[in-house]
Order: sequence, then structure tokens, then C-alpha cells
Amino acid sequence: MSTEARPLCPECGGQLKAGGMVLCKREDDGRRVCRLLWKCVGRHVWWTWSDRPGDELEPCPHPQLFGG
Ligand SMILES: [Zn+2]
Repeated sequence: MSTEARPLCPECGGQLKAGGMVLCKREDDGRRVCRLLWKCVGRHVWWTWSDRPGDELEPCPHPQLFGG
């Protein structure tokens, strides 16, 4: 379905695994948008805005959210 390459961990270069979504309010534009959670084999946790797939991964300050 998606032709996008899976993102790699910016910290260790490991494969990232998607771990669900969290609804957040974005400071930028005041919209409520889902964040996609990602975790690598080295247990680094990142997230991205679901409507901005080209954006860089940001470190997730709430790693406990991963995987519910
Ligand atoms: Zn990593």
C-alpha cells in the first residue's frame, strides 16, 4: 500500500517499528493532530505528526505511551 521506506532511528540507525498513535495539541497551529509513535530495537522512542510524514522524527518525551 505505502511505497514509503520505513524510517530508521536517527540515534542508532536501527529499524523503527510503529507503536500506535496519540492525539496531541500542536503548538504550531493549535490543531489537534495524531502523533505516530516509533521505537527501534535499541529502545529509542520517537514520534512524528501523522499529517506531516516528511517531517523529522522528534524524540518522544513519553516513551511509556508506546504500545499502550
Ligand atoms: Zn535507536
